[in-house]
Amino acid sequence: MFDRSALPKAVTVYEVGPRDGLQNENIVLPTALKAELIRHLVGAGIPAIEVASFVRPDLVPALADAEELLAELAPLLATHRMGALVPNQKGLDRALKAGVREIAVFASATESFAKANLNNSVAGSLDIFSPVIKQARDAGLRVRGYISMCFGDPWEGKVKTEQVVDVAERLFADGITELSLGDTIGIATPGDVIDLLDALDARGIARSLLAVHFHDTYGQALSNTLTALLEGITTVDSSIAGLGGCPFAKSATGNLATEDLVWQLHGLGISTGINFEALLGTSRWLRDQTGLKIRSKTAIALMDDNRMVETL
Ligand code: MG
Repeated sequence: MFDRSALPKAVTVYEVGPRDGLQNENIVLPTALKAELIRHLVGAGIPAIEVASFVRPDLVPALADAEELLAELAPLLATHRMGALVPNQKGLDRALKAGVREIAVFASATESFAKANLNNSVAGSLDIFSPVIKQARDAGLRVRGYISMCFGDPWEGKVKTEQVVDVAERLFADGITELSLGDTIGIATPGDVIDLLDALDARGIARSLLAVHFHDTYGQALSNTLTALLEGITTVDSSIAGLGGCPFAKSATGNLATEDLVWQLHGLGISTGINFEALLGTSRWLRDQTGLKIRSKTAIALMDDNRMVETL
């Protein structure tokens, strides 16, 4: 039986479009336009936004303007939850200088992805994050941990829950304040979600410290989200207009679209603080400004002028 009483009363939507999304689109937005997108998202009531990345600018040109962007957003940093990705000590130094109040570190559950994405082993990358997390916490920052490839990996296939739990345990021991579980290739189905949450719980990692980051590549993102909600998860990552695609499956859908997530949450009577019409207006504005393709099924269904514009 579908037990509505198990659902949370409120959910925190963690918007990743300006960072995770734009990093994986074939377009570089001018700084002023990114800042405007973020202000639109704040105006729509999105409570938490990942806005920038302090990786080496030559490695991710789309996000090379982190300092300039954060300077534009300075008035919002004190009042809104805005995160930035930090890969190492140098990234943390830049983030602190830019006035960031929340950072995120990016770990992998598998050796293959750690090598591909971080050019390191799983353990080696955790050793780099450890002092970064500690210093950030000592400076009073929130630290979000991500684990990629929590359910499956393009090179290694199905990922064992123990691999994820080991990395999670280490990140919490080092001091992270929240952990986002990433289904980077979007292959999980609801039973996998329950298995992972149970395995984390068995090692003392509470649901209240976790977020879920689903990709819709295999059409499972909303099923997995509903399952996570029924299991007690109250923070869900998503991306405006489904920005981000999927780097491992050409032309496939990537990040769960924020409009689709909010449609489901509000339909279930779960409060988010988000003004849905303003959110939809932000998708439309973004499409009109950039030509980026909207991948949210909800937004496509509701837009009066629903012409599709291909990604440049
Ligand atoms: Mg993602």
